[in-house]
Amino acid sequence: MRLLSVIVPCYNEQDNIEYFYQEFLNNQDFFQTEGITFEILYIDDGSKDKTAEEVRKLHEADERVHLISFSRNFGKEAAIYAGLQKSGGDYAVVMDVDLQDPPSLLPEMFSWLEQGYDCVATRRVTRKGEPPIRSFFARRFYKLMKKISKTEIMDGARDYRLMTRQVVDAILAMEEYNRFSKGIFGWVGFETKWLEYENIERTRGETKWSFWKLLVYSLDGITAFSTVPLSFAAVMGVLFCALAVALIVFIIVRTLLFGDPVSGWPSLVCIISLISGVQLFCMGIMGQYLAKTYMEVKKRPIYLIKEEL
Ligand code: UDP
Ligand code: MG
Repeated sequence: MRLLSVIVPCYNEQDNIEYFYQEFLNNQDFFQTEGITFEILYIDDGSKDKTAEEVRKLHEADERVHLISFSRNFGKEAAIYAGLQKSGGDYAVVMDVDLQDPPSLLPEMFSWLEQGYDCVATRRVTRKGEPPIRSFFARRFYKLMKKISKTEIMDGARDYRLMTRQVVDAILAMEEYNRFSKGIFGWVGFETKWLEYENIERTRGETKWSFWKLLVYSLDGITAFSTVPLSFAAVMGVLFCALAVALIVFIIVRTLLFGDPVSGWPSLVCIISLISGVQLFCMGIMGQYLAKTYMEVKKRPIYLIKEEL
């Protein structure tokens, strides 16, 4: 018998807990014929509704269901990390509780593992049902990441992934505080099979991601997996030096030819504001990396558990 750990981060998802469980059980026949047992780890990420209560109910009826409750909301990344740490399976899979990651895909995912892959990942090829402006910025983000990061970060990749123990252990070895899973999965490597599917809209409840949260998350992703922005200051410095040299030559020549009428303070103001703007911007970029480094150095725990069943 092989054990599959199913990791399900939940934040205010009381209506989805039971529904997810039922949908997951639709695969029971497949698991039986393949000789796979499973454990479902619901990670309650500091929910304010009856999420934990719903899981407790399931746990009483079925001992394969487990609850890990955080002391507050630590974010989905922390929930995934906690789930992987607590998982005891030969395989682990991360799934959203809103059924945007269809459990019906699991048999196909397992068939790829059997063919020798270490990891089966999913990506959505459409962004149906998403606000167009969000899709637009998401696409830009992935394009930019492709250019500035050595780590492969797939456009439209979901966190829905089936992994062998070896991959799970590799991910756990990355103990960083600023966790950006899409990057971490790519960074650890291993043979990954990508399955594609059309976007599925969430069954119940609402998405936890506002545009602002996504923007901040994407900046986290950039600072976590690229240091290219840090060289921006150096590049701008060289450009401005070149520009300054050209201007000096121009002014000397002009003064020699035409004399020096006292003028030019508006252009001076423009130049000073432009350059101080660029300087502050570069300092802001450095500040971002410094802030991330500061948080890393503190070595705070990634999550805190309040209750465990
Ligand atoms: N989630 C979480 N902690 C959070 C936000 C979200 O554990 O702070 C969970 C959420 O319950 C869901 C999954 O992460 O199971 C994905 O969230 P959501 O569906 O809101 O994101 P989307 O699918 O819209 O990207
Ligand atoms: Mg969702």
